[in-house]
Amino acid sequence: MARYTGPVCRLCRREGQKLYLKGDKCYTDKCPVAKRNYAPGQHGQSRKKITEYGLQLREKQKVRRYYGIQESQMLKYFNMADKMKGITGENLLKILESRLDNVVYRMGYAASRAEARQLVTHGHFTVNGKKVDIPSYLVKVGDEIEVKGRSKSSSRFKEMIEEHRGTTVKWIQVSPEELKGRIVSEPSREEVDLPIEEHLIVELYSK
Ligand code: SF4
Repeated sequence: MARYTGPVCRLCRREGQKLYLKGDKCYTDKCPVAKRNYAPGQHGQSRKKITEYGLQLREKQKVRRYYGIQESQMLKYFNMADKMKGITGENLLKILESRLDNVVYRMGYAASRAEARQLVTHGHFTVNGKKVDIPSYLVKVGDEIEVKGRSKSSSRFKEMIEEHRGTTVKWIQVSPEELKGRIVSEPSREEVDLPIEEHLIVELYSK
């Protein structure tokens, strides 16, 4: 399935909550969810009874949109999570958090995951000294993620560095002055800052 390229605020309105897809705008009163908290479209305001399947489906779509991933990737991650030790739903979120685009966002070098994905695709980051331009690359404990040498001096990146927002999680140790970060532990479930009921996704895929 092709990547969604329409207006991203529609996705938040469809899920009935902020998914923080637009960076700074999400934190202002210009956010459409704050103004019109109902689904987009002609029937957006009509109340429909949601089935159990509908709930599970919406939860999965919400998480897909939050991390900006396609259905095939989501299914692949679920299968990986299912084979790991521990709770499948938590494993799934840990895998999603370990994606390089998410790590760049968590390190504070992008205002949104979409921006982080673009920066990674354009080759601005290295992992353990090697250029990695694959947003779905999964980092592991001990990995060092760094802004690539030449990128550090580019004007776009200089501006971004000045705006550096800092990390939002404890499992990544960021050295802003060196423009790098280190994965010090596994991603923590508690630090996923969106209300997610991952057991609904597990139930959906387990049918
Ligand atoms: Fe748009 Fe961000 Fe608000 Fe979502 S949270 S509706 S992406 S401004």
